[in-house]
Amino acid sequence: MTDFDNSYARLPDRLFARIDPDPVAAPQMILFNDDLAHSLGVTDRDAAVFAGNVIPDGAEPLAQVYAAHQFGGWVPRLGDGRAILLGEVVTDHGRFDIQLKGAGRTPYSRNGDGRAWLGPVLREYIVSEFMAACGVPTTRALAAVATGERVQRERAYPGGVLTRVAASHIRVGTFQYLTAQDDDEGLRLLAEHVRDRHYPQARTMLELYSAIVAAQARLIARWMGLGFVHGVMNTDNTSIAGETIDYGPCAFIDAYTPSARYSSIDQYGRYAFDQQANIAGWNLAQLGTCFVGMMTQETGSQDAAIEALTGVLNGFPALYHAAWRDVFAAKLGIAQPRDGDEDLAQDLLSLMAATGADFTNVFARLGSDKARDEFTDRPAFDAWNARWNARVDSAPDRAAMARANPQVIPRTHRLEEAIMAATDGDFSKAHRLARVLVTPFDVADADRDLMAPPTRAEIVPATFCGT
Ligand code: AMP
Ligand code: MG
Ligand code: MG
Repeated sequence: MTDFDNSYARLPDRLFARIDPDPVAAPQMILFNDDLAHSLGVTDRDAAVFAGNVIPDGAEPLAQVYAAHQFGGWVPRLGDGRAILLGEVVTDHGRFDIQLKGAGRTPYSRNGDGRAWLGPVLREYIVSEFMAACGVPTTRALAAVATGERVQRERAYPGGVLTRVAASHIRVGTFQYLTAQDDDEGLRLLAEHVRDRHYPQARTMLELYSAIVAAQARLIARWMGLGFVHGVMNTDNTSIAGETIDYGPCAFIDAYTPSARYSSIDQYGRYAFDQQANIAGWNLAQLGTCFVGMMTQETGSQDAAIEALTGVLNGFPALYHAAWRDVFAAKLGIAQPRDGDEDLAQDLLSLMAATGADFTNVFARLGSDKARDEFTDRPAFDAWNARWNARVDSAPDRAAMARANPQVIPRTHRLEEAIMAATDGDFSKAHRLARVLVTPFDVADADRDLMAPPTRAEIVPATFCGT
């Protein structure tokens, strides 16, 4: 494949279990990311490699262990139940994990079969590459293969394996796992590994924690700017590197509703759209507790450690609000954000909520006559539009807007349609979405149908974790 240098495998072996992928019957390449392969120096194109049937030279396959709060409930021992890390590749722009998801059972599979079906594999491939194209920090998708095997869920589906690329797969839950076992040495080694790998500028444990907090603030603001609902923000799905990870039940908002939630298992709306920053803060508080021991070592006093960590955590809302303002200022073509701009953006969102206007299309059409058509209360929109024009001197930064407002997004009904067709062996719709959504700011005439929100009959009311 390419040269591996597996730094995670050099951490204490209580952080993982060595395990090889379980070969599959008949690997077939469905989607392959040539650009990403090129940037990683990956030369292999063979479906057998990306199915786990052939282990590339230098790989040291392993499953990572972690703990988690899942929907607020504590799970002391979790881990990669169906994902296997092949190793890390080092490029001139950083070190990246290469992981096979759906590669077979591991010591952490519990009752699971270690497999994935094609639906979630294609969903993650398409959506994560869209996020990357929008400049949102995210894990990437290198390949999607069909296994030629069936996977039993509510019915039998074709199986798939996704090759996921990440800055790392270290999660808040990785720290929690060690903390729960009072493994001070393991924590220190993990923290140093994270510092060297992701935040080399951090000189102290407090600075490391601050950098992780700031990365989450920026990340969630980016999600909000796209109407992205992650859907399963458990602490095992919170990347220490600040990337979006786990696209299981995610969805983008069509008709704008601040409390939107789609995941069928998010019964109480814990992970609703407008809760995402609060939840990120909650997850970071859990991470903070993992730093208390190390910080006590550093400062000599537990009280001082807790006070310093709490101070950083209390700074999260301000970091988030600043990032949110910058994201929405760009969407409004405001080159130099200042106080009050968040109100301008928020008032537009309120109008959109009152009308159920399409989140993506309003921003994509702002500054043209067509934006007005998205609103039922036209006078209210006209009044807002006048305020906006006054703010930007009737000359919004169109280039910034064009980069911040995608014309096309992975709408749930389109993903479902593509997945259903793929289940029947027709990959053309998945190929089309994968192609169109990597240039989301620029849509060819022939693909403009993908911009349309779902009709009433097309709305998909709920998403499933898709294991
Ligand atoms: P998630 O909700 O997607 O973050 O998954 C939670 C945990 O369930 C992770 O540790 C997964 O590895 C595990 N898991 C999900 N699906 C399967 C499966 N089919 N087989 C084994 N483990 C699984
Ligand atoms: Mg997960
Ligand atoms: Mg998942």
